[in-house]
Amino acid sequence: MSTHGAAACPFPAATVLGYPRIGPRRELKRALERRWSGNADAADLASEVTALRVRTVARLRELGLTGCSAIPASFALYDQVLDAIVATGAVPARFHDLADEHGRLDREASFVLARGDAARGPLEMTKWFDTNYHYLVPEIGPETPFAANPEELKGQVYAGTYSPADAAALRPAVVGPVTFLLLAKPEDSAPAGYDPLDRLEDLLPVYSELIAALGCTGVRWVQLEEPALAADQDREDLPELVERAYRVLSEARAAEDPALLVTTAYGDARELLPVLARTGVEAVHADLASGRRGLRRLTAEQLEPFLAPQAPALVAGVVDGRNVWRTDLPGALDLLEELTEAGARVRVGTSTSLLHVPHDLEAETALPGHARNRLAFADQKVQEVLILARGLAEGREAIAEELAAAEASPTEPGRSTPDAGDPGLDAAVRSRAAAVGPQDRRREPGQVRRDIQRERGAAAGLGPVPTTTIGSFPQTPEIRRARAEHRAGRLSEEGYRDRLREEIARVIRLQEELGLDVLVHGEAERNDMVQYFAEHFEGFSATEHGWVQSYGSRCTRPSILWGDVSRKGEGVRGEAFTVPWITWAQSLTERPVKGMLTGPVTILAWSFVREDQPLAVTADQVALALRDEVRDLEDAGIGIVQVDEPALRELLPLRREDHAAYLEWAVQAFRLATSGVRAETQIHTHLCYSEFGEVLAAIDALDADVTSVEAARSRMELLAPLAESGFDRGIGPGVWDIHSPRVPAEEEIRDLLQAAARVVPADRLWANPDCGLKTRGYPETEAALRHLVAAAAAVRREAAARPEEAVPVA
Ligand code: GLN
Ligand code: ZN
Repeated sequence: MSTHGAAACPFPAATVLGYPRIGPRRELKRALERRWSGNADAADLASEVTALRVRTVARLRELGLTGCSAIPASFALYDQVLDAIVATGAVPARFHDLADEHGRLDREASFVLARGDAARGPLEMTKWFDTNYHYLVPEIGPETPFAANPEELKGQVYAGTYSPADAAALRPAVVGPVTFLLLAKPEDSAPAGYDPLDRLEDLLPVYSELIAALGCTGVRWVQLEEPALAADQDREDLPELVERAYRVLSEARAAEDPALLVTTAYGDARELLPVLARTGVEAVHADLASGRRGLRRLTAEQLEPFLAPQAPALVAGVVDGRNVWRTDLPGALDLLEELTEAGARVRVGTSTSLLHVPHDLEAETALPGHARNRLAFADQKVQEVLILARGLAEGREAIAEELAAAEASPTEPGRSTPDAGDPGLDAAVRSRAAAVGPQDRRREPGQVRRDIQRERGAAAGLGPVPTTTIGSFPQTPEIRRARAEHRAGRLSEEGYRDRLREEIARVIRLQEELGLDVLVHGEAERNDMVQYFAEHFEGFSATEHGWVQSYGSRCTRPSILWGDVSRKGEGVRGEAFTVPWITWAQSLTERPVKGMLTGPVTILAWSFVREDQPLAVTADQVALALRDEVRDLEDAGIGIVQVDEPALRELLPLRREDHAAYLEWAVQAFRLATSGVRAETQIHTHLCYSEFGEVLAAIDALDADVTSVEAARSRMELLAPLAESGFDRGIGPGVWDIHSPRVPAEEEIRDLLQAAARVVPADRLWANPDCGLKTRGYPETEAALRHLVAAAAAVRREAAARPEEAVPVA
């Protein structure tokens, strides 16, 4: 094995793969948004970002990550995949004008790829593995240029430190070449059959250059992230490609270049783990915690290449980077000792970056004690890694106190198990869920419902291509302020309610004035589409500062689901909580108002969920609580209810063999939530993505009457396969990409709708934006919706004039 940085600095005994970037008080979010709004210049942004990075490095040192290279320089400003696009110079043709004469993008130009500008849309965004983090999708064609541009990555090292000696504390983290290409989509001009991974050979020299350039800063290790190896991929030659890539990168290094750690987070890299371990890289990470089944053992084949004298270090990801439960320290130590006794050189790490968890449990003051005792956020997980490393190095006695504390914990450590008498346990909820039968998940046949609903719609004045929105309207500063005042006790319950009612009235008036057909109340009362439900359910807690990056500057604050779930209030059914808002909205207009709920899968996906029982069981409890709410809406006269499942695809397991079981419980939970209503009540659902392929059958099985999806960025690509599959329900392909402030022109929307109308008959087509409007401003919202209404009217007229041209779907 080559020596490289490892000679001067062996891989540290304890590390984490990455750390939250957003800042304990969302400093990064604020800095970015000030820059984008023009209230700060590039230099202001740079100095704020540097200050945050310096504080982060100091914090991690203070927590004890003092080993050489122990601190990951995982400081992407917007997205680590965007950083890889910039670092490899893989600039899509449509952004070439932003690059300098060497084909390099600077930071400001990279923001255009992320956010678009007046002339063009941004890169597509999609979910990062089975998480709620979104990355920007590289567009790589046969001719896309590659050229090393290490500046932004080097900046991440210098930002925490100012001398090469200090740089040795940091370990730059870069998306690896195989994953980078697997995450990319072909540029539009690419010939059929082309796969970005075909460009691997062209990309490797660029990575070699990046590694060498990072070495010049003084770092001793570089972390190359290959999470795509833990997911099923369509390339049979993947083992050879992985082997080739890392042999080349390993061998191309000069003696003074950094050592390499390759990580395989988000699951089990299976046969690719030993492949990596034999390529000559100095350390390989294995995720031993993802998968919600407790810690995973390596197979004999996986372990074997770590046992040779020249073998790489094994970075054992035993501390889960994706949940907020404490690690089972004794169990993790058992596993680490087993691996060590077998002969591996074991280092302790996290399963993934800590990007997915909040910064620090200590910042929380209001969590119930019994739940808090089970929790660990990023800083606590750093401490766990360090405790385990000490236990491994010095023996159990050295960490006896910590192990005893884990054992004396009121509940099974690392698990959210409610024991008898635990406030999380509700016998009535459990027996109600146990009594659910197939009849509770079934409605009348779709065709029957469609006929009844069409009549009801016509009576309410709905024609073909009705216009609607996905639910939320812009959250104004006034509403946010009112909510903060209310929370702080300075605005009374009635005062707050009146403010919200005024806001709802305003949103209803606006929609009437714009000419929308199916109205929404605007969701002004909701801080967040999951947290709002969590706050009205038993068994959940919200956090105060538990922000987690979703994409760019966007963060969410996942709630913690630690107990049995039902609506708050008397009895097992509890009380309705969305009904008063929706009925208030409906009382102000003749047009139909759509009731708006968040679905069971999404509530689980965007919360930190108990792990003591199968997700299917928890999902059914949540579904029953929602079923009560759907019925109460119907009883209150609401004829359309939308149950959003934007996260349905996100939870899809990374291995195909696990898909069926997941989709089964996910679909069944949705049906349990939505099938308690009469045939004339129209159930809508909303899904936040456009790649349907793998979940097409499941979307059909949801049995919703109308489904709205994201489609603007991918230009309606999903409709053809949808039509081919025989999907015969209502569909609303999004015609306005709401992820950027850009207002689409009427013609642009009309083009999209016309494209849609060629595949879907007008009487099943809806016109709506890609997603909710919560994060948009009013000026762009009004302008875009005006264009949308006019475009839909034009398409409706065309459809009426030439009905024979709509291609009927089998
Ligand atoms: N109804 C929600 C909204 O409009 C849906 C949001 C989402 O899909 N993420 O905000
Ligand atoms: Zn959405």
